[in-house]
Amino acid sequence: MKIITIIGARPQFIKSSILSKTIGKYSEINEVIIHSGQHFDSNMSEVFFEEMGIKKPKYNLKINSSQKGTTMIGRMIEKCEAILKIEKPDLVLVYGDTNTTLAGALSANNLNIPIAHVEAGLRSFNHFMPEEINRIITDKISTYLFCPTQKAVENLMKEGLSENQKIFKCGDVMQDAAFYYAEKSAIKSNVISKINLSKFILCTLHRAENTDNEIKLRSIVNSLNEIHKTTPIVLPLHPRTKLKIQELGLNLNVNIIDPVGYFDMMELLKKCALVLTDSGGLQKEAYFFKKNCVTMRDETEWVELIEKKVNIIVGSEKDKIVNGVNLMLNQKSDFTSDLYGNGNACHIIVKEISNK
Ligand code: UDP
Repeated sequence: MKIITIIGARPQFIKSSILSKTIGKYSEINEVIIHSGQHFDSNMSEVFFEEMGIKKPKYNLKINSSQKGTTMIGRMIEKCEAILKIEKPDLVLVYGDTNTTLAGALSANNLNIPIAHVEAGLRSFNHFMPEEINRIITDKISTYLFCPTQKAVENLMKEGLSENQKIFKCGDVMQDAAFYYAEKSAIKSNVISKINLSKFILCTLHRAENTDNEIKLRSIVNSLNEIHKTTPIVLPLHPRTKLKIQELGLNLNVNIIDPVGYFDMMELLKKCALVLTDSGGLQKEAYFFKKNCVTMRDETEWVELIEKKVNIIVGSEKDKIVNGVNLMLNQKSDFTSDLYGNGNACHIIVKEISNK
């Protein structure tokens, strides 16, 4: 059996690294990787391939985010289709909700190749978010819909399925990854000694709805500066955010570091007092590492975290962010529920796609 995995953005490298390890245990499956090039800086791409031992992509399309939305997707489809015609895979595997996800799925669909979507069924119900549209379309055309949560299953059931589609609640591959790499990161990473802080908040900021909106970005920067005066913030700064901050001449006074690899991220998660983020993946990782999370967005796909009161949504207003951080820094939470499965998502997925 031949599977083509199409990835291109940081969270996809992490998700695919762990699933590819499981695929590798099945000698009858040949996995070929296409890297779209969406993330291309070495600390956003190469570092993950090296650290996590991800198989070298056979193809790198080198289509990066200097090309905007639909242009990027169009170019990716054109190149992916050409490769799929040569490789003739039995299945195309895509992850999450990026432009790479949608382009990979559309190109497979055009050639009638079955698609497996990992992280199917997630919804923010915010149609202004490009990721939401990417998810919905990818789900509509995928045969195998691998859902990380019960809520994701329910979302898909409500939208309705076509005859050939199958839903599986498998748990979250990011949990599999976090548990696997957290055992190795203590030896591999020295980030904690480098930052040399006994108490800190781990922050990430990259979502377009925040970085591409000047009012929101200014307000978030002001909030971070305010919080940092009492509790240090460590912020591995995404290249897109860095650029926007420079363009607007904003003064961000926190501990800014370059984007880090996954081993460093595991250690930062283990040691931080709180997670403050607009990332999707990091909200869950906070839970895996039993940390409260404050989310700088207006909604989240990971609603079970809100229900469990381990995560609060604060948007981009300064007072809400500062008050949210103060509240969550002091809150004792319960992290005992298995919200994201029991760490065998990858086995469930590979068993299904290999028909075993
Ligand atoms: N991450 C990382 N280094 C960083 C920042 C994030 O390895 O400097 C990891 C993080 O731990 C998570 C993933 O990248 O596993 C999340 O990706 P991102 O926030 O870019 O995307 P999203 O999850 O919002 O789609």
